[in-house]
Order: sequence, then structure tokens, then C-alpha cells
Amino acid sequence: MIVMTDLLSHLNPSQRQAVQHFCGPLLVVAGAGSGKTRALTYRIFHLINEYKINPEQILAVTFTNKAAREMKERIERLFAEKRALQQYNKPLDALPPEEQTDLRSQIYRKITKPLWIGTFHSLFARILRYDVNKYQDEKGRTWERNFTIFDESDAQSVVKNIVTKQFDLDDKKFNPRRVRYAISNAKNLGLTPNDYLQENPNYKGRVIAEVYDAYQNQLAANNALDFDDLILVPVRLFQQREDILDYWHRQFYHILVDEYQDTNRIQYDLIRLLTTNGEPDKKAWSWDNRSVFVVGDADQSIYSFRMADFRILLGFQEDFGDGLPDEDTRTMVKLEENYRSRKNILQAANFIIENNTQRIDKILRPTREEGEDIYIHKADSDQAEAKFVVDRIEYLMEENPELDAGQFAILYRTNAQSRVFEDVLRQRNLLYLIVGGLKFYDRKEIKDALAYLRVLVNPADTVSLLRIINTPRRGIGATTVDNLINAAQELGVPLWEILSDETSVTTLAGRSAKAVNRFAGMIQEYQEKVQEIDGAAILRDIMEDSGYLPDLKEKGTEEADNRIENIFELYNAVVEYQEDNEDVRLQAFLENASLASDMDNLQEDQGAISLMTLHSAKGLEFPVVFMVGMEQGLFPNSRSLNDPASLEEERRLCYVGITRAQEQLFLTHARERYFWGSRETCIPSQFLQELPEELIARNVKQMRVRKSRPQSKVVEGDIDWQVGDRVFHNTFGEGEVTHIFGKGKKVSVAVKFAELGQKILDPKVAPMEKVG
Ligand code: ATP
Ligand code: MG
Repeated sequence: MIVMTDLLSHLNPSQRQAVQHFCGPLLVVAGAGSGKTRALTYRIFHLINEYKINPEQILAVTFTNKAAREMKERIERLFAEKRALQQYNKPLDALPPEEQTDLRSQIYRKITKPLWIGTFHSLFARILRYDVNKYQDEKGRTWERNFTIFDESDAQSVVKNIVTKQFDLDDKKFNPRRVRYAISNAKNLGLTPNDYLQENPNYKGRVIAEVYDAYQNQLAANNALDFDDLILVPVRLFQQREDILDYWHRQFYHILVDEYQDTNRIQYDLIRLLTTNGEPDKKAWSWDNRSVFVVGDADQSIYSFRMADFRILLGFQEDFGDGLPDEDTRTMVKLEENYRSRKNILQAANFIIENNTQRIDKILRPTREEGEDIYIHKADSDQAEAKFVVDRIEYLMEENPELDAGQFAILYRTNAQSRVFEDVLRQRNLLYLIVGGLKFYDRKEIKDALAYLRVLVNPADTVSLLRIINTPRRGIGATTVDNLINAAQELGVPLWEILSDETSVTTLAGRSAKAVNRFAGMIQEYQEKVQEIDGAAILRDIMEDSGYLPDLKEKGTEEADNRIENIFELYNAVVEYQEDNEDVRLQAFLENASLASDMDNLQEDQGAISLMTLHSAKGLEFPVVFMVGMEQGLFPNSRSLNDPASLEEERRLCYVGITRAQEQLFLTHARERYFWGSRETCIPSQFLQELPEELIARNVKQMRVRKSRPQSKVVEGDIDWQVGDRVFHNTFGEGEVTHIFGKGKKVSVAVKFAELGQKILDPKVAPMEKVG
């Protein structure tokens, strides 16, 4: 019992009320960093620990898979702490490591594994693995339990095929991506093809309904579901089969949803069905032994482009709750204290969000004192911005030994912005991590684009050749490719030799011969150009002529737009490289790029700087946050400049960004940056102007980037580093050199430290010396 009181003492009275609330509906509304997620996590612990709820009967929805893992981890730790005290009368950390591990694995088996914690998509995919075979759609189509999940590009190509091949429609009139979008929206509104036709009773509506129907045939024929189906099919199944809904209703007695402001209608339907067993009459609901518990903040709703609707959160009291005024309600709790951020950071966030008209005022009081000023930094260019940020990180780490790289986050509006930062971080040998995404040079479109360039420079590179031969699709099938490869192997020549010979191709490639010859011709043409034109222009032109960019443009999805931006960013990288190196040969750039992706393979999980989009930062927190690219047209993005509702969403995103910072916040913008390869002048973001002057400092005190240290003198000069050398590092302690990169002045070394694992260091600046 002592333990219990201890753990609940980590909560304030309102949080405790939310955690101890047992049955019935409860809404927790509160601003950022007020401990909503903490309350939800402790509630799960409390349900099991105090009310003896079977973990299998708890369903908790998080916004990302990462958040789900962290929540499980946290619950596991709470139980481990409790058991350590009960069984050994010691705090968990005081137990020997084996006993800690033992304890944790017991808890994992009995508690965290059986819990249903995950995203909507992962949880309901799991439910469909049990029951999808009992579902029949309106046309009697069925699916088996081992169904495949089609991703967006699979779905796109199915639709395209139906539109252009099966129905032979004019793809100008019926643009496949628009049709696909219409189908997806229909699914998100819960409409069947027939429903869609009823709502759009015209020629176009009829055609789209028919394509939708044919698309469903294809899915069923492939035993496949798309992402929308993972939510829609359970809703339909539950509506269709009372017995199955009843089963899952009895399975989940306690339902919890984090980030409830970003749920959409269909997701809401699922929560409602499971909670009420499909009973429409509110008075007939029985809350005996069951609860629905949701937490959210309407000011942090940032996914309207995926149909999220924060009015669902605002409607909770009406839909489930007692609907009483705030003073009297028993179904809503407000949290009004922020535990995360320094007072001045919180004030800045509150100031910004007050510019929105669509919101409900709420209180969010700081619990922490003021910290360092918020800095706004104007850099000369995007590269200078990245250098500023990285300099600052290095400086802060030196000044504050308690800060390691894991405590810094760089947040940007679009994925492509990561590239410039990644380049600078790599030059400085700093470890970084891209949260919720891939590193720039690991992204598919970047690998594809580089493969095109490699083939131009080195036609014998068969791996690259195979990567692009039918990317984008140009009608060269797998069998043809196999025939060509076999022939090359027989003759012992590179594939390119066969490919570039028209006669051989005509002999081997059958019906695809034309397509292969066209492809080979294009490559040959560009191979000649490589000698004459600079690398950036080559990249730009070949991505157009090969059909790669046009293909993405036609897709027009969020994902495709992202890929286009990344390719343009690669183009910027080539331009920059050429400016810096006076070497316009493509070859030189490619060498540099290969090294970049090579470095990426090094271990990265400990003490790495986090880079991510603002969207991916939701729910997270970091001691030091850099929000970069604060410019009109970038953040807020260009689409929102003429659309007040989107601008408010961008502002909510800004609020999310600012409230990630615990100790210190930097906002940076560039005077000019590369857009599509040319320098453009940038206007500072209007969000910067919305901040009160007294909260910000514009002149970062002249900073010393690196302090000179006696230790660094010791290792300066040309120490001959060898694998196996023992070193002593001021912060990381003793370690052993495992790899040497580069030579002479450019040498860097990988050192394995007993506790921290491997780190790559520049011996010229790292506070480290050779010992023994
Ligand atoms: P967001 O809106 O960003 O999702 P949130 O409301 O979910 O934020 P949490 O992430 O749960 O907030 O908590 C923010 C920080 O405050 C965390 O570091 C958490 O550990 C801490 N915290 C929460 N409640 C308390 C409390 N009662 N006392 C001390 N610290 C707390
Ligand atoms: Mg949270």
C-alpha cells in the first residue's frame, strides 16, 4: 500500500482524479505538457494494480507505434519498481542486474505483452487477423485471415490499372490519382460504391463508383486490404455481426485513447461501437465494470489533412458524458499545470496560440521558473542556418557536461529540410537519428536517383541498373530482366553490355524489346552528356526524361509530393557541392554521397541528436529544441497563406513545436535558401512576429564554438591511431579504438566505451587521450 501512495504521489490532484476514476466515461482536456499521457499511462497501471483488471481487457490507442512502445515500457517499469519493493524491499535500481532483468521479463509476460496498446491501424489489423473471414461486403466479397496489407503505392497502381487498362478511360478526364483519392475519402466516410453513386448521381459519380467496385474486386482477388480498410472493415463487420461486436465488446472493458483531438469519424465510430456494443440509446448503456477514457488538446490537432476532426473531442461530453456545465460535470477533468517547459517557453506558446480564432480558451500555468531567453537567429543561408544549429549544439554540450546529444532536437516543417543538417552533422562526426522517417540518403527516391547517376558514370554497376530498369514502370517485366541477366552471366559480361546492344535485346526481350531499347538509348544519350554538362543539370534532366518525376507528379499523394521535394533537395545538394568544390564532375559528387550513406549504417541509437518533422514531434519532449526554417511559405507553408483555416492548423503545429522544449528554445530562419536549386530570398515567418519582444533575444551572445583544452593538445598532431588503442575520454571514460576512418589530419576514430557503446570521434577535438 505504501508503494501505491508513492506512485500516485507522482501526480497532481486532477491527474489522480483521472487515474482513480474507475467506470464510466472520462474526458481529460488540457494543454501541452500538462501530464495527459502520464495520467493515461498511470491509469493503465492503476486499473491492473488496484482494480485487478486483466491486462487483456485493456485497449489503449496511441498515435504512433513508438509512443505505444514507450507506454508499455513505462508501465513495465512502474510494476518493476513496485515488485522490487515488495519482494526485495529495495528500490529497483538497487537490485543486481540479473534480478532486474528477471523481474522485468516476468512482468512482460504477465502484464505488458497481453495489453492491447498500439495505433488504430495496428490494433484493428490484429482484430481482423482473428475475424476478417467472417466478414462479407455488400457484394459478397470475402477475405482470409492471412490477408496482405496494400500500402498507398500498391493501391495507386491497382486503381491506375483499372482506369487505364480495364476500363480504358481517358486518364485526363479520370485522373487515376484523383479517382484513388475519391475512393479513399469514400471509405473514410464509410461509403460503399453504391452509397457513393447515391451521393453523386451523375456520369462522373457513376464511373468512380464503378472503378471503386472494380478496385474492391481486385483487393478481394488478392486477399488484400488497404489502410482505410483496416478501420472501415472492422466497423462494417461489427455492424453486420452482432455476435462479433459483442465478443470484442466483452473483450475490452477499458478503452483509452491518447491524442484524441486527431481521431477521424470512422475511428470514432469504432470506439463508440466497442464501448456501447452498438446500443444507440444512451440511457441503456451499462457502465458497470467498463470505461472509456480519452485525453487530448484541441490546440494540438494537426492532422486534418488525414480527415482528423477535433470537433470529435469537443463532442465527447455530449456523446458519452453527463453534459453538465464544467463546474458540475463528473465526466471531464481539466489539467492546468504544465510540468514540461520553462515559464518563458510556455508563455511564448500561449501567446502564439491565442492568435487562433477557432479554439476554446483554457488555462495552462507554468510550474517551472523562467529559463534562458528564447533565441531567434537569422542566418545568411540554409547552410549557415545548419552550421549555426550544430555549432550551438556543440557549444552547449561543452558548457554543460550533463547534456548529451540525445537531449537535442531539430524540428522542421518538411522532410527534405533534414538534408542540410545531416550534411553538417556528418562533417562533425555527430551521431543523429531521424525520428519517424529515414535518413536522407536512405530514402527510396534518393537511392533511385543516385542509381540513375551511378549508371551514367559506371554502366557496369548492375545493381544500380537493376534498381532503375523498370523504375518508374516502363513495361520491362521480370522475365525479360531474367533473360537479359542470364545471357550476361553466360557470356561473363556486365548486364549493360547486353542491354546496350540493340540486336541482343531484340533477340532476348521479346515484346519488351522496344521498351528496353528505349531505356538503353536514353542512358547512352546521357552518358555522353555527362562529359559536357554539370552534374546538377544531368540529375534534373534525367529525372524528368526517365519519367521518374512525371510519375510522382501524377500520383499527387502526400507521399509522392514528399519524394519530389527530396529529389529537388538532392539537386540542391549537387549544386552546393559544385559550388564548394569547384569540381562539377558527377563522379565526385557520387563519391561523396556514397560516403554519406555509408556513415549512416553506423550505430546510432545512443546519445544521438534527434531530427524530425514537427508532425512527428507530437507528444515528445526534449531539453533543447531548435525549430528551423521559420519562413513564410515554408512554415507556415505556402498553401496556408491564403487559407485562414490551414493557417490556424499551421499555428497549432507551431504551438506543438514550441511546447516540445523543456529548457531552451531556438527559432531560426535563413535570409535565403535554395528552392529547386536556385537561391531565393526568404521572409521571416509571421509566427516570429507573433511572439512578444520581451520573451526573445535576437543576438546570440558571441559564442565560442570550441574551447581550447589542454587535453586536445595532447592528441593533436599526427598521432598514429591503431585499432586496439586504449583511450581515456573526459566524459565517456575508458574505451578501445575499433575503427579508423580517413588519414592524417582528417582521421576520425570509432571508440567502444564500456557503458555507452560505440562512438565516432574526431581525435583533434575530442577531450580524449591515448592511454597505456
Ligand atoms: P502533450 O500535450 O505534449 O502530449 P502531455 O499533456 O501528454 O503533453 P506528458 O507528456 O504526460 O504531458 O507530461 C509532460 C512532462 O511533465 C513529462 O516529462 C512528465 O513526466 C511530466 N509530468 C507530468 N505530470 C507530472 C506531475 N504531476 N509532476 C511532475 N511532472 C509531471
Ligand atoms: Mg501526450
